[in-house]
Amino acid sequence: MYEKKTKTFSKLSKTMLGLMGLSLITMAVSVSVNMKNDPIRIIPLNLTDSVMPTQPVVELEAESSIDLPAYEYTIQSGDSLSEIFMKLGIPYSDLLQLMEADLNHLRIDTLQPGDILRFWIDGAVKHLEKLELEFNIAEKVQYQRLGDEGYELVEVNIPGKWNQTVTTGDIEGSFSVSARRAGLSYNDVAAITTLLKDKINFSRDLRAGDKFEVVRAEQFVEGQPSGNREIQAIRIERRGAPITAYLHSDGNYYDKSGDSLQSAFQRYPTVSKKRISSGFNPKRKHPVTGRVSPHNGTDFAVPTGTPVVSTGDGVVVMVRNHPYAGKYIVVDHGNQFRTRYLHNSKILVRKGQRVTRGQRIALSGRSGRVTGPHIHYELLIRGRAVNPMTAKIPMATSVSRQEMTDFKKSVAVFDKMMLAQQFK
Ligand SMILES: [Zn+2]
Repeated sequence: MYEKKTKTFSKLSKTMLGLMGLSLITMAVSVSVNMKNDPIRIIPLNLTDSVMPTQPVVELEAESSIDLPAYEYTIQSGDSLSEIFMKLGIPYSDLLQLMEADLNHLRIDTLQPGDILRFWIDGAVKHLEKLELEFNIAEKVQYQRLGDEGYELVEVNIPGKWNQTVTTGDIEGSFSVSARRAGLSYNDVAAITTLLKDKINFSRDLRAGDKFEVVRAEQFVEGQPSGNREIQAIRIERRGAPITAYLHSDGNYYDKSGDSLQSAFQRYPTVSKKRISSGFNPKRKHPVTGRVSPHNGTDFAVPTGTPVVSTGDGVVVMVRNHPYAGKYIVVDHGNQFRTRYLHNSKILVRKGQRVTRGQRIALSGRSGRVTGPHIHYELLIRGRAVNPMTAKIPMATSVSRQEMTDFKKSVAVFDKMMLAQQFK
């Protein structure tokens, strides 16, 4: 993958790079504005057409250059980060150092069209001082340069406000069609049908006249929707007998009696229990630099070729080869759960494939930068890495006795919201 990029680099015309360099130096920012709300300037770095900025530019004052990014770029389909760096004249070694800092987060690999990149550049040496990835207005990641050692990653998450809405509708045709007509999204429908697949047969059990209510919450930051949303409660009235699901504060969904609705996970990404060689440690200090370098997963010391299994039912959403993380897989289990499996020698699944708990998805190995063969396994809940050995994972159990009172209270609140809407 990297060889290929290097070739592309050498093919780029020298004139083009020269022009780029020139335009970069004279590039400047017109006004100092509130970074949070307004992109300071959009430089349409259209990677296929032109590298010249179409926006008027003015000289940048030396002092004000410290905190303002030199470039902003919105990712388009087909972009590659190495090409963007090339166009900006940022050394490839900086990109490699970024990927090294990203090893325990792998956020760079999750960039999608529409996400925004902001570059802070040291004009004298053309080194990248800081890079910001904006996934949405509530969710950013910054890589700050620390001398020659590389970059440090900082996550910027704005809690914002979550607004609840109740959507209600009647079954007329399929559930999917009825739900979309009522205003639920394709993702909402997929989440609901996956969650309740063992409770109801969506293609057979519903009749015209059956009703449904769904409580959704949407995140807003300073009045703007961030795009983050979640389903909090579902009620499907099947000829008078409701089927329900409620999101509890532990991130899992339960029915009215507090029994888990999600298929169970297993703790270990292996067929049998293996020795942990390095545990989850968000405060781990790097042995050489002394900086905090979190270990966001659990390492299992196993010989190369050991089967790696998916810890839960889900869909393979990513299969990548990373210079440091090696051949890795990301499985989305729905309802905010994801797992990652790093350093494999062989991947046995493809992107988009459905997998079940315990299914072999890879053979372990030592790909990427490792000292010896092992499986690095991560569990993410709502995008945050948690200790996979101790986290509350759906184990097909119930709401704990201590939490039952709180759970019942929130069920009553959700029911009131949904029923109030139904009889409006
Ligand atoms: Zn590890």
